[in-house]
Amino acid sequence: MTDAGTADRSGRPIRVGLDVGGTKIDAVAVDAAGEIIGRLRRPTGWGDDAVVESIVTAVATLADETGLTVSRTGSVGIGIPGLVDAEAGRVDHAVNLGVESLDLADRAERALGVPFRVENDVKAAALGAAALSGVSGSMAYLNLGTGVAAGIVIDGRIWRGARGTAGEVGHLSVDPNGRLCGCGQRGCIETFCGGGALAKAWGRPGALPIRDIFDAADAGDPLALALRDDLHHGAAAAVRVLVLSADVETVIIGEA
Ligand SMILES: [Zn+2]
Repeated sequence: MTDAGTADRSGRPIRVGLDVGGTKIDAVAVDAAGEIIGRLRRPTGWGDDAVVESIVTAVATLADETGLTVSRTGSVGIGIPGLVDAEAGRVDHAVNLGVESLDLADRAERALGVPFRVENDVKAAALGAAALSGVSGSMAYLNLGTGVAAGIVIDGRIWRGARGTAGEVGHLSVDPNGRLCGCGQRGCIETFCGGGALAKAWGRPGALPIRDIFDAADAGDPLALALRDDLHHGAAAAVRVLVLSADVETVIIGEA
């Protein structure tokens, strides 16, 4: 793979970023000054071939729509769920994408002739949060999405730990009598403040269950009040774990 900086110096000014989720890909193109010059959203394919194809199509379409050729793209950065080997550009166990093991960077590079970098979505969001917030030194980005995980950034670089699991706080149990988690344990942090677990516990239809829970809590609904308390309890537990174990200076909470 080519380093993004090297690619920039070779005279290809455009950089593309992709957020690959379980249902959709959000793609954005920025120019050399960091200004957004195009964006699009497309559905994500299911399985190795379809995931690669939907990523390649997203980059090619974005290039078309912004009036640029793919050859002017210096690099493409992908944030994707799953266990990511950023050095190799490989994704493993991306369950929501139907991907078991995929050499994503190699295959996308072969298709488009553009260097690709691949990173776990929460770790990519952590790097983005660190850059946008201007936090130097140490920080953690706690992601309250369908699942719960954090990325730890030290001096502008992701701290992965020995096996890439640093910051995976979602499956730390904080209540042995709590709700059953998908991982088999009870009372994981994720069962308190993960969007998936809260939506399941809420059990009522709606496109935005967390917003529904907050609205219903404001109106005094007892279940919603309890779940809102759970969310606060879980998020606080996650922040406590991050501060006590990694002693980061700052924790930023977001939803990527
Ligand atoms: Zn769990």
